[in-house]
Amino acid sequence: MARPGNKIIQAKLVLLGDMGTGKTSLVLRFVKGQFLDHQEPTIGAAFFTQILSLTEATVKFDIWDTAGQERYHSLAPMYYRGAAAAVVVYDISSKDTFTRAKKWVEELQRQGNSKLVMALVANKSDLEPKREVETEEGEQFAQENGMFYIETSAKTAENINELFYEIAKRLAKAF
Ligand code: GDP
Ligand code: MG
Repeated sequence: MARPGNKIIQAKLVLLGDMGTGKTSLVLRFVKGQFLDHQEPTIGAAFFTQILSLTEATVKFDIWDTAGQERYHSLAPMYYRGAAAAVVVYDISSKDTFTRAKKWVEELQRQGNSKLVMALVANKSDLEPKREVETEEGEQFAQENGMFYIETSAKTAENINELFYEIAKRLAKAF
């Protein structure tokens, strides 16, 4: 519930990153608290809403999950238009997905919204034995691009709420 005097922020959030990195799983963990070992590839429109209440604001997220377009590595402008936050996801057990995450960030930078809150998400942290991307690499890239960095696991739920709370906090500051 919004308190009197508490700001209400409606924020569009877009998810970017290669297929299979866990974008849909992250959202389902956050919105529904569930995880599927065999998450079906997203087909068609995937749109979710979730509300987070902070002391300083109530943030209503409109979450746009990519629906297979990420395969072609180009998304329609309407996908980004009006976005307040962007979450770029890679899989720590796949160097290729990190390389592609960098491309997504370049594409985001080209959109030219300097106020965009951007998160670099190193997902599947539960796959530590298979890690191909070191924490420092992710952190450094995030820092160079004005993003915050976080390691998550949609499987174990590690840092999922923290990810969205951090975004909400930054939005509350920016609005
Ligand atoms: P998307 O294509 O980016 O939306 O990725 P999905 O959410 O469909 O996930 C792709 C596959 O990775 C599915 O089999 C998920 O169960 C699995 N997956 C997603 N997140 C995690 C995670 O944090 N850890 C592990 N081990 N598997 C995950
Ligand atoms: Mg998906």
